[in-house]
Amino acid sequence: MNCIITPGHGIITDSLIMHGIIKVYGNKISRVIRVGEKFVICGDFNTPNTSFIELMKEELELAINKTDDKTEINKDIVSSSEYLSKIRDANINKSVLPIWFNSFLDSINVLEEKKEDLSKIYDFKHKEENKEGRKSTKNKRRSTKNKTVYLPLGYIYGKYWVNNKKVEDVSYQVCNHCFAFSNIGLQSGVILINTIVKKENTTDETKTFISLIPDSEISGTDALLLQRFTEGKTITIYDTEMTIPASLLYSLSIGETLYSFNTNISVLVWRLKLSNQFQRALQPLILNINTILDKIALIKATYPYFTKLLEYFISNKDESNKDGMVIMTELARYLIYSTEDVYKVIRDISMFVSKNNLDVGSVKDLAEVLLSFQYSKEFYRGQ
Ligand SMILES: [Zn+2]
Repeated sequence: MNCIITPGHGIITDSLIMHGIIKVYGNKISRVIRVGEKFVICGDFNTPNTSFIELMKEELELAINKTDDKTEINKDIVSSSEYLSKIRDANINKSVLPIWFNSFLDSINVLEEKKEDLSKIYDFKHKEENKEGRKSTKNKRRSTKNKTVYLPLGYIYGKYWVNNKKVEDVSYQVCNHCFAFSNIGLQSGVILINTIVKKENTTDETKTFISLIPDSEISGTDALLLQRFTEGKTITIYDTEMTIPASLLYSLSIGETLYSFNTNISVLVWRLKLSNQFQRALQPLILNINTILDKIALIKATYPYFTKLLEYFISNKDESNKDGMVIMTELARYLIYSTEDVYKVIRDISMFVSKNNLDVGSVKDLAEVLLSFQYSKEFYRGQ
């Protein structure tokens, strides 16, 4: 057994690389340990999942139409691929997509050719040895093999970077291995919530990325379980902006319930906004979610209409009745931070249900579970 360490490209890119490695090495991974913004991954790195790499290669080759002077993307192929469509939906700068897919194919080819033990590639000196990091486009000495990390693969505020008080046009570049694994990680280790709000002359898009990561240390089996929960999950919501607490509550509640793990799990959330062609990256957030997962599991066991109620909060588009998202945010804040007044939350939910005449069972059952968390508030606060 060997241990490798992620390169140190920041918590977002390193989390994605970690998830990419877990996807490609699967049950060969025995442990994943978070050390600050990096991850130590232990396991057997001699036998990658070649069928997944081949699938990626095949889909990318079909999706890219190359002529002498330009590269185009076959939209139908991308739409039919669970993996490629997730990259398309995650991207906010549409013009870079052909270059992005091309870079991904290049890096997948490198992954396929260089089947050497990954522990020879990822050691403490990886980033420096491969000349990865911020590179000025004027700097001719930069490595031509390295690939630009686009948003949301990296945490980069726009294209420009202030260096020695001079604003320079720079990009963050990584080697082929880092690029391939971070793309695979985006596909398999992230839930994407895409909200699209059409306004008079423009369309606002908000992309919220939610990735589950170990708080300290988890087993390889738990790491695979985390991916089973996030893989292929893209949620698109029209005409409603979603707050971060509401996005978290919704994404952790739908689908199969993620029962509590023996070890601590954190959630990493980051967000991109596109409005009037203006891009904005919001500060990433890390939150321990074990208690939230426990609460959601308990709510769903006692009150089976819970996800249906959440759907109603989101789909409530009537102009005169826009309070669904407000109530969902209150509820999420109560469950996540224990800050809201639970009696007000329950009252608002009851009023919402009766006003809209919703078929969501007895709200009393939900109220009882929510109140029970109030009594154990001190316990949860101590976590
Ligand atoms: Zn690298």
